[in-house]
Amino acid sequence: MERTLSIIKPDGVAKNVIGEVIRRFETSGIKIAAMKMIQLTKPQAQGFYAVHKQRPFFDSLTDFMTSGPIVVMILEGEDVIAQNRKLMGATNFKDAEEGTIRKDYATDIEKNVVHGSDAPETAAFEIGYFFNDLEIQQR
Ligand code: GDP
Repeated sequence: MERTLSIIKPDGVAKNVIGEVIRRFETSGIKIAAMKMIQLTKPQAQGFYAVHKQRPFFDSLTDFMTSGPIVVMILEGEDVIAQNRKLMGATNFKDAEEGTIRKDYATDIEKNVVHGSDAPETAAFEIGYFFNDLEIQQR
């Protein structure tokens, strides 16, 4: 069993697709082990995306991520990191496969509806960034 961090970004919340995104996870057999809605401060967004701090879009990305509420979830399942990335689609919605979340709902390379951890090490860091043990369902 594996865990990953998923975020419905401010554009996804604003487009009223929270339920649609969660439906895709649940119908794929993925379990939700923790969930909350929060609004990040700029320092919190900068800390989360620290790996991207040298990238030209870092300031724009962290502004966007603080622009409204987000839904943060821990997803659980077999191979869930890769499974979630497949459901999300490519970073740029123009390159995303048909039927993926980003293909269906993203409008911009930055405003791409969802985040998902890309490896076990990043998943562990990202889960710990948002949740403590008491907030995670132990099955
Ligand atoms: P992800 O793992 O698919 O989310 O992609 P990355 O880790 O490469 O990038 C993190 C986030 O930064 C993406 O989800 C986008 O929101 C944003 N992003 C990535 N590339 C660009 C870019 O070229 N321009 C802008 N403005 N944002 C980008």
